[in-house]
Amino acid sequence: MKKVNCPKCKKEVIWSDKNGFKPFCSERCRLLDLGAWASEKHRIPGSSIILDEEKILEREE
Ligand SMILES: [Zn+2]
Repeated sequence: MKKVNCPKCKKEVIWSDKNGFKPFCSERCRLLDLGAWASEKHRIPGSSIILDEEKILEREE
């Protein structure tokens, strides 16, 4: 059985379809990680996100 380490608390988690929180060990760890990600996003002003997207488009052309 495949196992991974929870990205939040490093606990060993069995990787299975029954684990709806994978790669996290629990809903708590998943929410903590999403919360950290969301608070990082909130620190960035909306205008700079649009500017970044424009830069990416220019690079692809
Ligand atoms: Zn965890």
